[in-house]
Amino acid sequence: MDRALIVGGGIAGTATAMALHKAGLDVTVYEAYPSGGDDAGAFLTVGANGMAALAQIEATAPVAEAGFPLTSLELSDANGKRIGTRPLAGLGGAVPAYHHLRRSDLYRVLQAEAAARGIPIEHGRRLTAVEIGSAGGPPVRASFADGGSVTGDLLIGADGLRSTVRNLIDPAAAPPRYTGQRVFYGYAPEASPPPGQEVLHMIRGRKAAFGYTVSPGGETWWFVRVPGAELSPAERARTTPAEWRSLLVPLFRRDRTPAADIIAATGEALLADNVHDLPGVTAWHRGPMLIVGDAAHAASPASGQGASMALEDAIMLAKSLRDLPDRARAFTAYERLRRSRVDRVIDGGARLSRPKTPNLIERAIRDRRARRRYARPAPAARDWMLDYPLDWDTRITLQEADRTAVERPAP
Ligand SMILES: Cc1cc2nc3c(=O)[nH]c(=O)nc-3n(C[C@H](O)[C@H](O)[C@H](O)COP(=O)(O)OP(=O)(O)OC[C@H]3O[C@@H](n4cnc5c(N)ncnc54)[C@H](O)[C@@H]3O)c2cc1C
Repeated sequence: MDRALIVGGGIAGTATAMALHKAGLDVTVYEAYPSGGDDAGAFLTVGANGMAALAQIEATAPVAEAGFPLTSLELSDANGKRIGTRPLAGLGGAVPAYHHLRRSDLYRVLQAEAAARGIPIEHGRRLTAVEIGSAGGPPVRASFADGGSVTGDLLIGADGLRSTVRNLIDPAAAPPRYTGQRVFYGYAPEASPPPGQEVLHMIRGRKAAFGYTVSPGGETWWFVRVPGAELSPAERARTTPAEWRSLLVPLFRRDRTPAADIIAATGEALLADNVHDLPGVTAWHRGPMLIVGDAAHAASPASGQGASMALEDAIMLAKSLRDLPDRARAFTAYERLRRSRVDRVIDGGARLSRPKTPNLIERAIRDRRARRRYARPAPAARDWMLDYPLDWDTRITLQEADRTAVERPAP
């Protein structure tokens, strides 16, 4: 049985561990942080495709239980007028649709689920170096900051946007790109926006984009994307939630939407981040090493798809390793199956993360176009997102991988 070393115990790492385990590999996860799920701030959405990926490894239930479903998106303009609504469609059947949850909760439940399946997760193990095997020795040796090392047949880098494995595969790999937007997240227990459970409200404000949902417990979860220079680590560390509030509230005061009041009603639970993406990583694998999730291809959070893409990666890599005769062909097939899809998601996220605030005329044109778009039935454009061969039981062939196609196994 091949031994897989998985570097990173985030979304991609834990899901890949479970998928490879299901495909029959011997798997261990090495996570840099000493404990799981300590990311205090942000929340995210797992799309219907991400939930479908989880269904392939029987892991939807803990994720659904840790969050709440979103069944529609409502877009409004700066005057609070509704531009249109769209269902956030699921795939039907047993697979639930979009789910909204705290990032830390997603990490926590995925790690717990992997551990419950007997997959070891070693915390406090930060990968620092990799040695590709010499003749007769193990294919790969991973060394950690604690001085220890382990050997395996393959090493999967699921170590996020600032991936060490990406640079070990290719020291000249593209670094993350600042999109020109900052993003702020907050939780407002006392805000009382217009009712609307299971709705993702998106508001195109005069100065910035605002989004919110209301949790089943009545807490308002909101985010803002604002064009601006990249925040330095020092600026992020020293700025208090009250100072962020006093910068953000005036951006929405002229809008006739609930945004300013929701931000004003937020206490300490307010977090600022820079929006990065990662297009154009040319080498996803070298020898026994391969990268998945944000380590290979990060989309702006505006895409709402980073976590779902990481979950899809896990399934497609496991199927490739299961179905193809050797590791090299499996890695090639995996890349062919994934690259154009994630590129499309990254492009879509970048379009939503433009570093410029539109002026009055640009806003009017943009909102008119959106009204026209929303007046039509839901576009087939999103079908490509949901129509993807994640099904565990279909087999992958190298020839077909080019066309992102699969064939059914013989009965
Ligand atoms: C603020 C914000 C909001 C977002 N909102 C959304 C959203 O709504 N929907 C969505 O789908 N996506 C969203 N995303 C993107 C999503 O969070 C990422 O795409 C997703 O987390 C990628 O998962 P990952 O496992 O590849 O990376 P990560 O979640 O970053 O996990 C990487 C893991 O690797 C570990 N690690 C790093 N280096 C090492 C090392 N050297 N050795 C060992 N371990 C290491 C880290 O500690 C971490 O646990 C958002 C991202 C941000 C930053």
